[in-house]
Amino acid sequence: MPNKDLHFHPIHREANIEEFDVFIAGSGPIGATYARSLVDAGFNVLMVEIGDQDTRIPAEHKKNEIEYQKDIDRFVKVIQATLSVVSIPRSQTIVPTLGPAAWTAADPNKMFITNGRNSFQGEHNNLGAEAVTRGVGGMSTHWTCATPEFLKGLERPIIFTEPSADDAEWRLLYNSARSLIGTSETQFNHSIRHNVVLEALQKAYPDRGVKALPLACHRLAEGSPYVQWHAASNVYGDMFTNPTKQNKQGVKRGYFKLLTNTRCTRFELDSSITNGHKVALAEVQDLLDARLVSESNNPEIDFYIKAKAYVVAAGAVATPQILANSGFGATNDRVKHIIPNLANRITEQPMAFCQIALLQTLVDEIDDPNIPRPPWWTRAVEAHKREFGKVDPLPIPFRDPEPQVTIPASLERPWHTQIHRDAFSYGEVGPTLDSRIVVDLRFFGMQAGVPENRMTFQTQLKDEYGMPQPTFEYKPTPKYAEETQRMMEEMTTDNETLNSMTNVANKLGAYLPKSEPQFMTPGLALHLGGTTRLGLGEDKDISVANFNSQIWNFHNLFVGGNGTIPTPFGANPTLTSMCLAMRSAQKIAESLRGSFSPALPTEVLRPTPASWLSWTTDPADPNFPVHTRTVHRRV
Ligand SMILES: Cc1cc2nc3c(=O)[nH]c(=O)nc-3n(C[C@H](O)[C@H](O)[C@H](O)COP(=O)(O)OP(=O)(O)OC[C@H]3O[C@@H](n4cnc5c(N)ncnc54)[C@H](O)[C@@H]3O)c2cc1C
Repeated sequence: MPNKDLHFHPIHREANIEEFDVFIAGSGPIGATYARSLVDAGFNVLMVEIGDQDTRIPAEHKKNEIEYQKDIDRFVKVIQATLSVVSIPRSQTIVPTLGPAAWTAADPNKMFITNGRNSFQGEHNNLGAEAVTRGVGGMSTHWTCATPEFLKGLERPIIFTEPSADDAEWRLLYNSARSLIGTSETQFNHSIRHNVVLEALQKAYPDRGVKALPLACHRLAEGSPYVQWHAASNVYGDMFTNPTKQNKQGVKRGYFKLLTNTRCTRFELDSSITNGHKVALAEVQDLLDARLVSESNNPEIDFYIKAKAYVVAAGAVATPQILANSGFGATNDRVKHIIPNLANRITEQPMAFCQIALLQTLVDEIDDPNIPRPPWWTRAVEAHKREFGKVDPLPIPFRDPEPQVTIPASLERPWHTQIHRDAFSYGEVGPTLDSRIVVDLRFFGMQAGVPENRMTFQTQLKDEYGMPQPTFEYKPTPKYAEETQRMMEEMTTDNETLNSMTNVANKLGAYLPKSEPQFMTPGLALHLGGTTRLGLGEDKDISVANFNSQIWNFHNLFVGGNGTIPTPFGANPTLTSMCLAMRSAQKIAESLRGSFSPALPTEVLRPTPASWLSWTTDPADPNFPVHTRTVHRRV
């Protein structure tokens, strides 16, 4: 029941809109994809974001700062600072070296429970490194920008059982998503290290499709050492600065507003609806004003927002969290709620990592006069040696861009690989080695969603933002555990037929001490999936929503993000999640023009009309995504 004390959010008055077309929770790349698609089609959209805007251009990649482009290792600290670990088990809250006189809980089962410390979390089945990022742009303000397609037949979800229809749908969606986020495989073509790694691996594995890692970025100028890394800001485009723009059909942009520091708390159902469920209101809290009052559920900070459709795109953890807080499912009592499969069958990516220092032979070949090299290469090496040859033992220019290479997953070798140099929350090189000869190898395995693997939300325990505390129950499945063993297989053998990390690593260099091949803490890939799984009609019993991302039996509630992906996947998921969001946005637009009906298993899904996405691929369309607009920012 709506709380009679709560008012409508002042934004209704300010915008002079009684009922928004669409409400979106979460401002990351997926919320941005929904917003851009719908606003450019003329619909009005209100978005709320729990975090603050902490880049000058809303939702921009923080790595674009010159400081981090000059020293990528410094960015490790930024990533660490923006990640909040989701669930910390009790054992990690015990401090054996604490002075004996300090306060300690009388009951050892009741230890500290703030900031993700979770006395309900098992140690053996946690995703110990799973984390969230709060802020405008979400995780895309620090991501690596790897944007590969999913492998058909394994990773790529099946939207249409007829194979040619499915292929056509994915082709359309991937082309559009790639254009919207600005993915490219050519931005590192003029990097010496990139070519050294690429050629060494292509020579060693000629049949494995070794290629440049697709990255959402563009080089600022030919020959420049700097790239502009893309983020949700690229998806928003000029939405924040050009509210009156018209699309090719002459339709003016709809109203768009992003409320930051605003928590989407829960949804309120329309109790008059008898066929299925319909969200009537979203309850939000103004976190800035919440600092000024003593109680929550207070008409000064808690408000209702009314819209025709509601989209939850708050990341794979917070999306089910908001739904759980609405009483729809996945709470620790595990009562059969109206979304019975919420946060069931979660997936993640077992991840192997190592770092190598390039082989002497590979480095020596860089300026070997007997090996023909393109003019840009020779020019760069000669210029470097002329200026620094007396002091620098390496023939690699200081600002030579890093390598960015991948060996794509295949059905025989179901893991995704990144052979590159980039900043993560770990793998900092430190002052001892020259980063120019270091290459990181990251191999991402897969996991299928099984009912034993799930997330629950504790109603009696809140996270630091006042939302129910997530608890993981997750163990790798036997089938994919075996695959990860193969991924790391034969650590010390040099079996040419394998694509194991060690073989790949050995082709390039020698291990960095402490960075030998190792599995990382579960969750570290930050690619949690399956928390709000999509499914075909026959899969209703094991999914949360249909392939329009509309929650089963709901009229007007949609989910977005990596949680919607129902398949096992090793590749980075954001591009695919954008595809699913673009498809879903079309369904919302269609319903806004007609009427919303509940998602039912019998509904016949239709291909996304090419006209819905033509703006993403038609350079003559005013809304065509342009990424190369260089932004010089000064105070
Ligand atoms: C180090 C690192 C490297 C990565 N590399 C890659 C990569 O190379 N390729 C790739 O595909 N992916 C990568 N990722 C993951 C990628 O960033 C995510 O897949 C992507 O950002 C997900 O988009 P999203 O919009 O669904 O969620 P998010 O980006 O998580 O955004 C969700 C937003 O919702 C907000 N929110 C949460 N709760 C609420 C609430 N109650 N009310 C209102 N707002 C709320 C959050 O604050 C957040 O801003 C990486 C991530 C990290 C951290």
